[in-house]
Parts: sequence; structure tokens; C-alpha cells
Amino acid sequence: MDSQKIQDVAIIGAGPAGLTAAIYTSRALLSTVIIEKLGSGGQLAVTDHIENYPGFPEGINGFELSQKMEAQAKAFGAKYEFAEVQKIEKDPSSGLFAIQTDSSTFKAKSIIIAAGAKPKSLGVKGESGFIGKGISFCATCDGAFYRNKTVAVIGGGDSALDEGLFLTKFAQKVYIIHRRDAFRGAKILQKRVFDNPKIEIIWNSVLEEVLGDTKIRQVKVKNLKENRASALELDGLFLYIGLSPNTDFISGIEKDEGGYILADEALQTSLPGVFAAGDCRKTLLRQVSTAVGDGAKAAYSAEKYLEGK
Ligand code: NAP
Repeated sequence: MDSQKIQDVAIIGAGPAGLTAAIYTSRALLSTVIIEKLGSGGQLAVTDHIENYPGFPEGINGFELSQKMEAQAKAFGAKYEFAEVQKIEKDPSSGLFAIQTDSSTFKAKSIIIAAGAKPKSLGVKGESGFIGKGISFCATCDGAFYRNKTVAVIGGGDSALDEGLFLTKFAQKVYIIHRRDAFRGAKILQKRVFDNPKIEIIWNSVLEEVLGDTKIRQVKVKNLKENRASALELDGLFLYIGLSPNTDFISGIEKDEGGYILADEALQTSLPGVFAAGDCRKTLLRQVSTAVGDGAKAAYSAEKYLEGK
């Protein structure tokens, strides 16, 4: 693609929000470039089974759904570029945006930031040394390595429960270690977790240390109610303690204290012409369906912004 050509819309991120925005903007005959650093789908692509996205009563594999979204956006003419965005800047005189990436600089009349979010790590002793050597953030990617092994999941949200259940396909034992005595994840997932004989829940407990040699062997867990530490022999550890937004590259646009982009009802950010959609913005609920809704709304707002120019 000619990076010097001025695009109507540049979309940063090819998760469900970005791909939906691309379907809408390219279908509105706006020239559209999607800039993505890894591959389509974002977190959706590493989710084994999506069962709460309408239209798929049997559920659908996340990677397959993201491939379909990408194909739909490309069918309407959206262009796709693999690059990591490093900076966005607005030229005050022309109103044009420069999107600087690790490979080139794109120019666009408007931007939709749909950069998503990434899993958080705990910051406990020993953790950083075992990332990729027994610590994973993606059960869909790494679960099969733990056939007949013992693993633990940290967290009590939808991801911890969903992925804990997924891991029972492979592992002989799955511990879910949660810092409180109640999960925040969906009730239907909680029921499946409680009913699964391979899962043991360790309530009111936090991870204190990860131990091993070339791979994880053991974790130290502290029961907060009893103020008691114990050791657990493990082969793998999956961290699902929440997300942080991929917004470090953005400056000059209002964010909250967690780095989530602030946007109004029309998904307009504090910088006119820049819109935010999906998991990277401050919002009540982060689901595939809400990301898709955001993508459509941001695209509509970008179209109105360009009409008004
Ligand atoms: P989340 O909802 O933020 O849950 C994070 C969990 O980790 C919470 O249970 C939290 O405990 C725990 N936690 C946070 N910091 C911790 C720490 N330092 N030490 C120990 N535990 C800690 O994150 P998520 O489960 O990754 O989900 C992210 C978003 O994606 C949510 O909006 C979720 O609904 C969505 N999602 C949806 C689905 C689905 O619909 N099937 C699947 C996956 C994700 P507390 O509960 O005590 O705060």
C-alpha cells in the first residue's frame, strides 16, 4: 500500500472493534487502512469457544470468527497493514493525522483507535523468569502442552473461569486460585466450574512466589483469611487477573488512571477526528458483542466527522 496516500480512516487494531469499524467505513466507501501489529482478532483470536455472540447457537471458535470478520472487511475494500503504531499526531493547519509506525508513516483524515487490551501480570517473586516457561496468558495457545499435567489458574473473572474449564480438556487437575470467596465471572461459567470434578478452587488465596528450574515446579500460595502459606506442586500457571489497555503509544488524548481512553456517546475522544472503540476505551462491559457495537458506532461517527469537514 502507498503509505503517502491520504486515507479517509486509519483504524488501529484488528480485533472485533477494529474489523467491524473497517466493515462499516469501507462499506460507506471511505478509504480505510487497518493497522495491526500481530494478526486479526486480538484476544478473540486466542479464545477457543465464543458462545455469547449472537448468530452462532452452537458457539464459534474465536479464531474462525475473527477470520470471517477480516474477510468481510477486506471484501468491502479495507486495506490491511502489519505494523506497530508508535505515535499519532495531528497537523493543526491541515487537520490531517500522521500515524507513525515501526515501518512507515500513514496519513489519514480520521482515526479509530481499537487497540484492545493485554493481560496483566502479578509482579510476584519468580514470575517474570517463568513467563513462557510454564507461565502463560493463553490457555487456547498453550493448554495442549499440559496433557495429564497439573495446572493452576489465577483470577475469578470470566477469563479465569472460561480458560480454567478449557484447560480441563487436557490437564488432569486444574486449580483455580482466587483472592476472594466469590467469583465475579458469569453465573453459567461458575456453575460449570463448580460441577467439574477436575477443578479444585482455592479461595481467599494469593500467589506469593513461583519456583522451579528450567520450568515451573511449585508455587507458594497464601491464604489471606488464615494468614497461612502453603506450597503447591504445578506444571503450568495461567494468569487471568484482568487486562490493561494497549494505549501507551497515545499521548495528547484524555485517558483514565488505568490508561483507558475516555470517549463520549459518539465515541469521540478529546482530540477531534479521533474515535475509540472496544476494550481500549473506558466502558462498562468488554465483550465481543460490545466491541462490535463500538466499531459500528465509531465508524458512523468518523463518517459524520468527515462529512462535516
Ligand atoms: P476481570 O473481569 O477484570 O477479572 C479479573 C480477576 O482477577 C478478578 O476476579 C480479580 O479479583 C482478579 N485479580 C485482579 N487482580 C488480581 C491480583 N493482583 N491478584 C489476584 N487476583 C487478581 O478480567 P477478565 O476475566 O480477564 O475479563 C476481562 C473482560 O473480558 C471482562 O469484561 C470480561 O467480562 C470479558 N470476558 C468475557 C468473556 C465471556 O463473555 N465469556 C470471557 C472472557 C473475558 P476480584 O474479583 O477480587 O476483583
